[in-house]
Parts: sequence; C-alpha cells; structure tokens
Amino acid sequence: MRDRELYAKIMGISTPWSVEDVEVDLAGEKVLVKVACKDGPLPCPECGKSCPRYDSRSRSWRHLDTMQFETFLVADVPRVKCEKDGVHQVKVPWAEKGSHFTAMFECLVIDWLKEASIEAVARQLRMTWDQVDGIMARAVQRGKARRAPVRPKVIGVDEKAFKKRHEYVTIVCDALTGDVLHVGDERKAAALEEFYESLSPRQKSGVMGVAMDMWPAYIAATQEHLPNAQIIFDRFHVMKHIGEAVDQVRRVENRELLRLGDRSLVGSKYLFLTNHEDLAPERKRLFKDLKLSSLQVARAYALKETARHLWGYKRLGWARRNWNQWISWARRSRLEPMKRAAATVRDHLDGILNAVVTGVSNAVAEGLNSRIQTVKQRACGFRNRERFKNAIYFHLGGLDLYPSVSS
Ligand SMILES: [Zn+2]
Repeated sequence: MRDRELYAKIMGISTPWSVEDVEVDLAGEKVLVKVACKDGPLPCPECGKSCPRYDSRSRSWRHLDTMQFETFLVADVPRVKCEKDGVHQVKVPWAEKGSHFTAMFECLVIDWLKEASIEAVARQLRMTWDQVDGIMARAVQRGKARRAPVRPKVIGVDEKAFKKRHEYVTIVCDALTGDVLHVGDERKAAALEEFYESLSPRQKSGVMGVAMDMWPAYIAATQEHLPNAQIIFDRFHVMKHIGEAVDQVRRVENRELLRLGDRSLVGSKYLFLTNHEDLAPERKRLFKDLKLSSLQVARAYALKETARHLWGYKRLGWARRNWNQWISWARRSRLEPMKRAAATVRDHLDGILNAVVTGVSNAVAEGLNSRIQTVKQRACGFRNRERFKNAIYFHLGGLDLYPSVSS
C-alpha cells in the first residue's frame, strides 16, 4: 500500500476528498498530509444545495501524531457561491468549522483533559496553553448546546470560592444525577435567578425541592421563582455552621488557657472538627480525656455530636421535638457561639425539617463539594472566573463534549 492510500484509509478521507501527497520533514519531525477536493459542484454549508465553486483557501489542521512526528492535514478548501446564502467555505469531514485541529485530535485532547491539567496536556501534546484551553472551551460550548432540557426534581445550590477565597461562583446541580446544571457569577440572588429564569414553566413546576445553605440571597431567589418548591437546609451546610461555632468556642478558650500557662487545647482543632468515628484510634484516646473534661469546648462538642444524630429521624414530629430540645439546650449552654448557632437553627428549622421530610441526604452537597475540590486541585488555581466555570462544566456537567463531524 502506498503512503497516500495508507493515510487516506487511516484518516478516513473519502470522496470528494483524496490524499494527494504525503511529505515527511525528517529534520522538523513533521508529516504533512496534503488532501485535495475533486472538481465539480459542492453542497452549500448553510442549505445543503449543490452550488458552483467560487474560490479556495489554503488551510491546515493538526492531526494525531504519526509515531513521534507531529502530523498536519493540509488542504485548499473550496468556497461555494450559493444563490440564497452567498459565498461560504464548504464543510470538511475531518474537522469542525473554525478549528485548527482535526476532530480526532480534539477527541484526544478532551480525553487527556479529563485526566490532567491544561498545563500537563499542553506539555505532553506539544501545544500552547491557549490551544488546549480553546479546545476545552469549545467542548463545553458544544456540550451545553447539545444538552436536552433538564428536568431536575431536587436541585442543590452551593457557593464555591476560588482565587484565594475572594471570589465566588454559584453552582446549581441536579441532586439525583449530580450533574452541574448551571454556574453563575458570585453568590448573589441574581446568580440563581439566572438559572431559574432559563427554565420553562413546566421545568419549574417539576422542581420539588431546593437544597442549600442558610443563605438569604438563595432563599429569596427560590421563594420568588419557585414558590412551590420546598427549601431544604441540608445536613452538610447546617453541620458546617455548628462545627464553626464549636471551633470559635475552642479558639477563645485556648487563648484563655494559654494565658494561664495551660496547653490542654493546643493543636486540638481537628480533634473537635472531625467526626468522632473518623478519628484514628490513638487520637480517640487522646480525645477521650478532653471530651470528659469540664472544658467549655467539651460541652460545645457534645452539642455538635448530638445535632449530628438528629438527622436520623424519619418522622417529622420526632425530628421537630428533638431539634427544639437541642435548641433550648444550646441556648442555655452559656457559650455565645453555640447560642448564636441555636438561633440560626431556630430561624431555619422548617427548612431543616424539610430535609427529613424529603429524605434529601448529605450526599448531594458533600459530593459536589469533594468533586469541586478535585477540579481545583487538578488545575492548581484558576486565572479567572470564566476558566473556573468552564472547568466545572467540563468535569461535572455530564455533557457530551466530543466534536461531531459529518461529510
Ligand atoms: Zn445555501
């Protein structure tokens, strides 16, 4: 088989296109596959009607390497003159419109991007950062354009910080599939309203519940746009607030003890933040004495552990009674941060009880949280908000990202 036929076969080049020549540049470690289009009328890319040729433009596309040699497909691409649509470049079967890469090459880049950072992919495939970023951005655009109208029953809303925690995005996901449906700017009501406004009345009426943090902007946007959906304050977020209150108690007490020369609480932060069953055995022993002590943080911790077990109730009546008991216990605790946490719980109790009623588990918010962490770690930081948003859609959007080309 001659090299022209070989390349035509492995690249899937077929009539009206054919491989005219294959040039190997040994010094530059490059292969140029020259492809030509046979004479005659061609379909208009807009309407599909067969039209006369107008002129042609020389173009090239990076393709999969031939061994270690970078391989390019080169062609004079004809333009046709359509009576209805005017002059247009014809579609080529190996690449999407406007791309400098063949569809197969873009698929390779997309596959690698699922496993590695833009920097790593660029280095391995000998591309520039911007080229890889461009393929990623187009993949997301394509995936979003293809996505069928979503019908989430329960959605999860969360804010995520990036760039040294000063900037935020609002993320909306489908609680059942875990797919990210929307990423909005900042953590204002507008970020969530943008998503709600994109839904049809039918889509809106299908949303039974919205799980979120106790964040006024999200609550207000949801009450306004989805008045029939239940607002759910999930375990992940509520326990985060209570855990932060425990840590405040610990910090203040540690400072007071240190002033008296007592180092009991030095280095104890994670003992009190970690769930007890997740502690290593030797840490558990260490913790036991602290927990049984008369320290303020021991009482705060007991409150937190009790609250953790209130999520197990299946019956609304029991759940309400026990949460109310917890609130009054916390308010009598003489620990200011715990009293404030109790007031927050009291003000949001209906939404907390909705977590019991709807059975929305911790998995939604916690799962999203850990997947976002993975996206962040892989990228080692994001230059700007758009890049962060794109990466979230790319990795967590459940989108069909690959280019599709047809002759
Ligand atoms: Zn046309």
